[in-house]
Amino acid sequence: MKSIFTAAAKKPKQLYLTIDDGPSEYTNEIISLLKSHDIPAVFFFRGDSLINRIEIGVNAIKNGFLIGNHSYTHTAYSTMPNQDFFDEIIKTESLIDECYLRSHVKREIKVIRLPYGDRGAGNYLAQPTNEDQKEKVNALQNFMKQAGFQSLNFSDTSSDEDLLIDAKWTIDAKDYLSKHKDNEDLHLENLNNALLQSTNTTDIILMHDFRHELGRSDHLVKCSIQYLLNKNIIFLPIKIKSLQEMHQKSLGFSMRKYN
Ligand SMILES: [Zn+2]
Repeated sequence: MKSIFTAAAKKPKQLYLTIDDGPSEYTNEIISLLKSHDIPAVFFFRGDSLINRIEIGVNAIKNGFLIGNHSYTHTAYSTMPNQDFFDEIIKTESLIDECYLRSHVKREIKVIRLPYGDRGAGNYLAQPTNEDQKEKVNALQNFMKQAGFQSLNFSDTSSDEDLLIDAKWTIDAKDYLSKHKDNEDLHLENLNNALLQSTNTTDIILMHDFRHELGRSDHLVKCSIQYLLNKNIIFLPIKIKSLQEMHQKSLGFSMRKYN
């Protein structure tokens, strides 16, 4: 007889797909690919790319994708004055608002991912190690909260740390590495290792969509998606209801319960 434990152990990997650094002139192709396989995603766009590609933003929204803020010039927050960074976010917000306006789709949630995952204490979601860094991290989190940004609810990848406003990731596809650009096999091997190394059933994967002096990454996004589909990975829909809303709701419930 088939044991339920065997079935549970074979639970397929689930991913939330997030794509940073666009839009590029290839974003519409990525949108079509995702759409043809019914794969939901969040695109975190940088303002200096979006300003000349508003129509691509509109196309993404009309096709059901969520658009988020990825600053204007993609400069690391810890290397610049706070206010300059806040101004970049505001500038990009007005472009994203324009995309929603022109697509006639209501913007349900304002989300953001920080360039390099730099919250004020260095790359890759680094934690602050001194008072100055703590202050810088808090200043940005407070600014984002006041500006109406909300953290995304990535369901079972969530922890208290996720009450931070900016969207984190748990797997980096590293499609920006120059050694991967001309070597799809090496890239897919790296992606496979990253999937194997993660012990989570659900991960937030970070891919990139860009074309600039460093080259382009769309072909790696496309082959990664195909690879993940072949491995029967399940792509989860991004939940519009933010983590804070969920949190407030559960607090409200317990208040009523114990008052
Ligand atoms: Zn980026």
